[in-house]
Amino acid sequence: MMFAELVFPLPFRNTFTYSIPKDYEDVVEFGMRAAAPFGKRVLTGFVVNVTDTTNTEHKIKPLIEVLDEKPIITKKSLEFYKWIAEYYMCSLGEALKLSIPYGLEVESKRKIVVDKELCIQLLAKEKKSKTREKILKVLSEKEVINLTLLQKLIKKKNIYSIMRSLEQTGAITILDEIEDEKVKIKKVKYVKLAKPLADIYSYIPEIEKKSPIQVRALLEILNKKNKVIRLKELADKEISSSAISSLKKKGFVEVFEKAIDRNYVEVYNEQLIDFELTDEQKEVIEKVNCKIDNSSFNTFLLYGVTGSGKTQVYIELIKKVIAKNKSALVLVPEISLTPQITSRLLNNFKDNVAVLHSRMSLGERYDAWRKILNGKCQIVVGARSALFAPLKNLGIIIVDEEHDGSYKQSDSTPKYNGRDSAIMLGAMSKCPVVLGSATPSLESMHNVLTNKYELLKLTKRIDDALLPKISLVDVSVEQRKKKMKNIFSSVLLDKIDDRLNKKEGVIILQNRRGFSTSVFCIDCGKVEECTNCSVPMVYHINDNKLQCHYCGIFKPVPVKCPNCGSLSLKYFGTGTEKVEDELAFHFPQAKISRIDSDSISRKSSLSKILFEFSKGEVDILVGTQMVSKGLDFSHVSLVGVVSAETSLWLPDFRADERTFQLLTQVSGRAGRSKIEGEVIIQTFNPKHFVLQKVLMGDYEGFYNKTILERDQMNYPPFVHLCLIESKDENEEAAKNAIEDFYKELTAYRNYINISAPAPALIAKLKGFYRFHLLIKSNKNEDKGGVKMKQAIYKAFTEFNRKSRYNDVKLFYDVDPQSII
Ligand code: ADP
Ligand code: ZN
Ligand code: ZN
Repeated sequence: MMFAELVFPLPFRNTFTYSIPKDYEDVVEFGMRAAAPFGKRVLTGFVVNVTDTTNTEHKIKPLIEVLDEKPIITKKSLEFYKWIAEYYMCSLGEALKLSIPYGLEVESKRKIVVDKELCIQLLAKEKKSKTREKILKVLSEKEVINLTLLQKLIKKKNIYSIMRSLEQTGAITILDEIEDEKVKIKKVKYVKLAKPLADIYSYIPEIEKKSPIQVRALLEILNKKNKVIRLKELADKEISSSAISSLKKKGFVEVFEKAIDRNYVEVYNEQLIDFELTDEQKEVIEKVNCKIDNSSFNTFLLYGVTGSGKTQVYIELIKKVIAKNKSALVLVPEISLTPQITSRLLNNFKDNVAVLHSRMSLGERYDAWRKILNGKCQIVVGARSALFAPLKNLGIIIVDEEHDGSYKQSDSTPKYNGRDSAIMLGAMSKCPVVLGSATPSLESMHNVLTNKYELLKLTKRIDDALLPKISLVDVSVEQRKKKMKNIFSSVLLDKIDDRLNKKEGVIILQNRRGFSTSVFCIDCGKVEECTNCSVPMVYHINDNKLQCHYCGIFKPVPVKCPNCGSLSLKYFGTGTEKVEDELAFHFPQAKISRIDSDSISRKSSLSKILFEFSKGEVDILVGTQMVSKGLDFSHVSLVGVVSAETSLWLPDFRADERTFQLLTQVSGRAGRSKIEGEVIIQTFNPKHFVLQKVLMGDYEGFYNKTILERDQMNYPPFVHLCLIESKDENEEAAKNAIEDFYKELTAYRNYINISAPAPALIAKLKGFYRFHLLIKSNKNEDKGGVKMKQAIYKAFTEFNRKSRYNDVKLFYDVDPQSII
C-alpha cells in the first residue's frame, strides 16, 4: 500500500494522508495535484510526499484522482513556497496555490438535496433554535440548494452541526459535485488521407457520381502542402461533416485531434533597432555579467533616470543568460508597462518568450504556462504572479519599476511582495537579481546604503536628451487672477495648444477615474455613499451611473437627495472622464484617448491605444497613473498634471513616497529624444516639500528627508510591520474579535509595539466591517520579523481557544504597502 501526503489551499498548517489507489500507484509523484475527499467536499491538493508507510491514526481515505501528467513543482521550488508561507504567514497549501494558473482548480460544490415534506414538518415543530428555524424555512421552499447560498440567505456561516443533525433525520442529503477545470487544453480536429493517394484515385469517378461534395473534400485535402486540413476549414467551404463521415466510413480519410496553443498576440509593436551601447550601459552590464558568469546571487539596484535605456540593459543581460542556456524572468508592474517592454522582448527573442498577464484570456494564460512547464521557452515576462511560472534553471531575475506598489498582492492570501520574493528566489537559484527604477523605493535605496544591494547608475538620458523642465502652477493664485477655466489653468491650455500645433504628443495625468469623484447635497451635506462600502460613489458620465470603485456596484444617478429630498445636488472632484470631456471642448480637432481601468478592460485595447499614440494618430493621451509607467514615446514633449493632490494627503506613511514617484515618473514621459520636454503640474500646495523635490529633480534630497522621518516615526525600512485586520458582516463581532486578539497580543508587549485596534480608514468594504491593528518590531532586534510572527501565532492560538468571536476571520499583512 502506498500513501500520499497532501496539503490544501486552506489555512491548515499540517499535511493530510491518503492511500493511493492501485491504478495510480505508478503515476503519483511529488509535486502533482490530486483531488481528494476533504470532510464532505472534494478538494484539489498538492502531493508533498509519497511513502509506503504511515503512522496516521485517522481513517485513511483513498485519493480520487491525479490531475497532472507530470509534477508542476520541483523539490527545489518547494523550498521557495515554504519560504513564502513562513514569511507571509500562510499555510504551505495556500502558498502552493500560487503555482497554478487561475482556472485550473478542481473543486467540488456542496449541494443539498431537500426532502421538502419532512422539512415542513420539522419546521412546524421547531421551537428551540432560531437558526434551525431559519434554515428549515429556506429548505422547505427548495428542492436543491447549494451550501454557500443557504449560508448567505440565513446570514450565518457556522451551521455545520445543524446541517449534520438534519442529515441524520433524513431531511436533507448532502452531495458533492465535482466541478471541472475552467480551462482545458484546446484541441482542434483535422482531416487527413487514410490511404496513399494512388489507392484513392481509381475510386474518384465513382464517388463523383454519388457525391461531388466528397470529391471536393478530397481535393481540398490534396491542395494542402502536408495533406492535412482543419475540419473547420472544410466547414467554412461548405463541406458538411456528413460528407467527411462517409469518406471516413469508406476508409479514405481519417479524422484526428491535435492540441494547439492559443498564442498571445501583442498588438503593440515596434521596429527592432540595433544600437551602440552607451558607456554607462556597458559598465552596468559588465558588473551584472560577472555574476551571471559565475552563477552567483547578488541584488543590484539599477537606478537610472527616466529614458536612460534600462530596457536595453535588460535585453543585453538576457542575451548573455540565454547564451549560457539558462532562463530569464522579467517582472513588470501590473498592466500598463507590458505592451512596450513585451514587444521589445518579442522583437529580440521571438518564440523564446512567454507572456503572462491579467489581460490575457484564461486559455492564453494556461497555454503560456504549459509552454513554460514543457521547457519550450526560456524567457518569461509578466506581472507579479509570473514569479511562480515553472521556469527551470534561472540565470537572472529582473524586476522593472521595482518601486511599484502593484508588486504587492494586497487583496488575497498570501499577501506577498513580488519584488521581495524575487530576491529570495534569486538567492535560492543562485542568480543575480536586478531591480530597476528611476525612483527607487526607500527600502531598496536603504538596502544599498546598508550594503545589502549593489548600486548601478545610469545618470544620463539616451542621446543626451535633457530631463524635462518642470513648473508648478499654483491653482489658488490662478483662481484669484481668474485664469482657471474650470479644471485647467490658462497656462496649461496654452501649452497644449502650442504642442498640438507643432504635432507633438501630449500626456495628461489625473489619478482618479470616472467623471466626478463624489456627489453631495448642498442643503444637508450628505454624500452619496456605497451601500456596501464606506466610500463615496463616483459619477461616470459614459454610463450615466454612479459606481463604487471598491466593490463595483452601480446606482442610478439621483434626481434628489435621498436624505432630505433637496434638488440641489453638487458634483464634486475631477476624474479622467471629466478631463477628457473638457479637453474635447477646448481642442475639438484633437484626437484624445483615455487610459484607465475602465477604458482598457478589453483585452487588447491598451496596446491598440498606445500603438495609435506612437504613430501620432492620437494627439493627447489622458489617464490615471497608468500613463506614468514606463511609456517611451519620442514625440511626447508636454506632460500636464491636472491635480498633484490626488495622493498627497492620504493618511498613509507612504503617501509622500507615492506622490514623488508618480510625479517624477509621469514627468519622465516628456522630452525623451531631440525635442525638449516640459511638465506643468497644477497644485494648491506648491510649497509642499515633495513637490519642491519633484521640481528640482532631487531624488537624493527627497530620500534623505523622508528616510529620516521613517526612522523617527518607526516605519519601514527600520521596523517590520504587520497589519492585522478583522472582517465581518457584523460590526460588533469584527470589533470584539480584534479587541480579544489585541488582549492576547499585549502579553508580548516588551518586544513588539502594538497599536490599539481601530476601525480601518475605509471602515466598511464590500459589505464587511473592518478593524485594524498595527504591529511593529525593531529590525535590529528581530531578524526577519521572526519574533513578531511567533507572537502573532501564539496570540492567535489563545484567541482561538478563548474568544467568543473566534469565528471572525483575521487577516495578516506582512510588510503592508498601505495601512488604509
Ligand atoms: P528607461 O527604461 O530607462 O526609461 P528605455 O529603456 O525606454 O529607458 O530607453 C529609452 C529609449 O532609448 C528607447 O527608445 C530605447 O530604444 C533607446 N535606447 C536605449 N539604449 C540606446 C542606445 N544605446 N542607443 C540609442 N538608443 C537607445
Ligand atoms: Zn440633502
Ligand atoms: Zn462599494
